[in-house]
Parts: sequence; C-alpha cells; structure tokens
Amino acid sequence: FFRPIDKINSIIETYPKGIAGFTRYTKFLDTEPDIRDHDGARDAGRLRGDIEYRDVHFGYRNDRPIFDGLGLAIKAGETIAFVGPSGAGKTTICSLLPRFYEIASGAITIDGVDIRDMTLKSLRSNIGIVQQDVFLFAGTVRENIAYGRLDATEAEILDAAGRARLDDVIASLADGLDTIIGERGVKLSGGQKQRLAIARIFLKNPPILILDEATSALDTETERAIQQSLAELSAGRTTLVIAHRLATIANADRILVVDDGRIVEQGSHADLIARKNGRYRNLQTAQTDTGPFHPLAFKR
Ligand code: ATP
Repeated sequence: FFRPIDKINSIIETYPKGIAGFTRYTKFLDTEPDIRDHDGARDAGRLRGDIEYRDVHFGYRNDRPIFDGLGLAIKAGETIAFVGPSGAGKTTICSLLPRFYEIASGAITIDGVDIRDMTLKSLRSNIGIVQQDVFLFAGTVRENIAYGRLDATEAEILDAAGRARLDDVIASLADGLDTIIGERGVKLSGGQKQRLAIARIFLKNPPILILDEATSALDTETERAIQQSLAELSAGRTTLVIAHRLATIANADRILVVDDGRIVEQGSHADLIARKNGRYRNLQTAQTDTGPFHPLAFKR
C-alpha cells in the first residue's frame, strides 16, 4: 500500500535518530523525480474536503490503463467505503489524492482547486493516512506521535494520545513519552502501533482521511477498540476507506463497488442490499457477520 512510502520506510529505518530521519524522509518525498510542485503551485491552506475526480485517466504503465475516465464526487465530511476484488483499483484511487502518482489526463480537485495547483506539502498536510502497516521510526514515543507536526506542544501530544487511547500505554512505559521505541527500544504490540498511528493523525488534524483497513492480526477486543477510535477520528473529516470489515462498510455514508478500474455500483448499504442480483448483494451472501471482508468472494 502506498508503495513510495514503503520504499522510504525501508530507508528511514536505517537512520538511528527519529527526527533526523524525519527530515530526510520529507526531503525524499518532495524530491521524488516525477512528482513535484508545478509552476505557480500555491499553498492550499486548510481545505474543507470536497473531493472530485473528473474523467481521470491513469496507469502505472502507459500500455496498461487502470482508470479510463474515472469520475467521482465526495462531499466534505462524507465517509466513503471502497469495496471490490483484489486489483480493482481501490488503493490506486486513494493514492492519487496525495499525488503519489501523476494522472495522465483529467483532474482531481479538492474544494474546486486542482491538486496540481497546490504545493505538495500543503496538499499532503491536509490528508491523514492510516495504513495497515504502521510506520514507526527509531526514536521516542513523543517523536513518533509528533511526526508530521514537529511544532506540537506536550499538551497537544498528550491530548492526541488520549483521544487515541494511547495514554494508558504511555503511562505504563518506564520513560513515558520519552521511551525509545523501535529496534533498540521497547517493542509495541500491533494494537499499540495502530493507536500511535491514530494519535499522529489526531495531532495533525487533517480535514481528509484515507484509511486502509486492516484485514487481520488483532484480537477481537483490540480490533473493536481500534474501530471505535477510527470512527472518532473519521468524524467531521472526509474519509476514504479501503474497507474490509462489514461493520465499517455498513456504517459508511456511501459504498462504492470498484471493479476493473470502474465504479460499478454505489449507494448506502441498505440501497445496495436491496438490489436484486447486484454485485454488492451477491457479495453479502458470501459474507458472515462482522468478520473480515474477503474481496476474493467477489465473483467477476
Ligand atoms: P487490493 O484489494 O488487493 O489491495 P486494489 O483494489 O487496492 O487491490 P490496486 O492496488 O489499486 O487494487 O491495484 C490496481 C491495479 O494496479 C492492479 O492490477 C495492480 O497490480 C496494479 N498496481 C498497483 N500498484 C502498482 C504499482 N506500484 N506498479 C504497477 N502496478 C501496480
């Protein structure tokens, strides 16, 4: 997911100090060869979060288009769940928004402004991303939470930690916020890492959230608690979820069924489940209660 970030993660983890690593990390992102500020790009300021994809054409390779005229409008504050088979393009739709890749033609706008007319830095400061694999660098808990908002005060960091329910974890660590984590420090559990990622975004407080939902790994109780924190995080933000859990999907304002680079169905859970022979409805019959959503159950 978000492969450019993965690439950088492997580089950053070799740096011993978190903050030094962070500086290098942003530099690397901003100097990626083909993605850079366009001439005349402006600071986006704080966006409201109305998103539109207009006739978007994109392929990782020129000879293999993924989107051939994709259109999509998302209202500020709306929560959209993307579902569909593996390889359908759900992740790609989301990774075009922070401009991890450049579209071939068409436009993606936020609040009516083309994202290519915004500086990359200001665009990305408006978008929070929670991935399955949480990226932590070797450094303190404090540095890891404040990553993305290095000017944050201790009170702000603690407030974000509290909202993500990471405060109990911090209290249990010998050096609290100053505890070193990572290879040479304390190892955090999967659930604790998720909480740290959520705390980061609470601190960053972006109007737009991209959420790549985990498919497994956590026990049910932890999973439920994390889901609750994510629901609170998503409140009041435009949220794009690459969804795997039925509970998330059912609670979304709108579900978009993606197949082969196209949105083949959309609506609320109630709308879609009522459609006889609909793709979504067929999927539901293959789904059990609130367990992980199996994209492969989606028959082509
Ligand atoms: P999944 O549910 O498995 O995550 P997805 O719906 O998110 O799938 P994408 O990851 O967006 O699908 O992939 C869409 C298509 O683009 C697939 O054919 C995939 O192989 C291809 N693809 C994805 N990332 C890259 C990349 N970095 N380079 C080349 N092709 C890619």
